[in-house]
Amino acid sequence: MDSLDHKQIGQKLRLFHLQAEAPGMVFWHPAGLVLVHAIEDAIRRQIAADGFVEVRTPQLVRRPIWEASGHWENFAGHMFAFGDEGREEALKPVSCPCHIEIVERLAPSYRDLPIRIAEFGLVHRDEDQGALNGLFRLRQFTQDDGHVFCEEEQIEEEVARFCRSLRALYAAFGLSSFSVFLSTRPARRVGNDDLWDRAELVLAAAARSANLEPEIQGGEGAFYGPKLEFSLRDRLGRSWQCGTVQLDFVMAERFGLSYIDSLGGKARPAMLHRAILGSIERFVAILLEHHQLALPGWLAPEQVRVLPISDEQAPYARMILETLQRQGLRASLGPGGQTLSRAIVDAHDAGVPLLAIVGKREAAASKVALRERDGAQRVLTLDAAAAELGMRSKPPV
Ligand SMILES: [Zn+2]
Repeated sequence: MDSLDHKQIGQKLRLFHLQAEAPGMVFWHPAGLVLVHAIEDAIRRQIAADGFVEVRTPQLVRRPIWEASGHWENFAGHMFAFGDEGREEALKPVSCPCHIEIVERLAPSYRDLPIRIAEFGLVHRDEDQGALNGLFRLRQFTQDDGHVFCEEEQIEEEVARFCRSLRALYAAFGLSSFSVFLSTRPARRVGNDDLWDRAELVLAAAARSANLEPEIQGGEGAFYGPKLEFSLRDRLGRSWQCGTVQLDFVMAERFGLSYIDSLGGKARPAMLHRAILGSIERFVAILLEHHQLALPGWLAPEQVRVLPISDEQAPYARMILETLQRQGLRASLGPGGQTLSRAIVDAHDAGVPLLAIVGKREAAASKVALRERDGAQRVLTLDAAAAELGMRSKPPV
């Protein structure tokens, strides 16, 4: 069967739509938002385990902040800017400056470092309408953004922590093949060569300590620092750059951010920008094109569908449904008035990973026939089936 693209799958599974009146911005339908939340919840558990705290910062921020960050000068063409009582402001294209504003108010000392701040940052970028491409390129999207503020000697461990957590996380999404790149100093840059030497060495050492061998991408770093990039390979052999961790020599300086060092003086913290998935919306597109209609059970908007063979089993089927829903499973009841074979095909087309089929025999014995996507089927007691469904639908991360 030919592969469907994520827009076709999104329509088939009723996940989302896009329309001309809001170009590059997504209307998430109920099933799609379930998927988005399943992804975000997994990221939340990961970042909590990594010692991050979550924040939320303003959408509309005035010009002085974007001047300090350099966006007003370098990124103006991609920002949605407005006037507000004669003052200029813009929808945030990134969350970094807002995180700096929070850290500044913590007035940290060296004992507070590293400070790790994360945000599901809703950002807007004014992309050309011709460049928009489904969920791959939007004008409004959500970054799983995060920043680490630390002392220079803490950088290597912070980067290594980040690298170590990625392998299991990507594998949980069914994407276990990835490459790592180290993007080094570009021709146009700030900071002296000594600083860049140290920064590039630190990133390479951190990757190695997480058992990764980055390929060098000469000259591909940002002007303000080198970065590690993680490219996931999908079923079709395409690569998608998702994770990044980037050293930044510039922004803390531009905002005058400091901490009190162990001698009581002021020192400049190092800043790391990191994201595990990049854009959540784009990651949904990658997942859909990779898995097609067969998302892993823990991500499937509908995890199990209960199918009574005839109306006689409807009360028993409803009881099973309630048992599964009480367990936190995303379960539904198949539409009645269909042949079983039709109902199985429909459930398959709707991407439902597991079916709980009940006929006369199952109802009489308080049992249920569990059917897999590949057609394999086993009859279990209701308790055993509920336990197994619960286990198989649980997020692995
Ligand atoms: Zn950032």
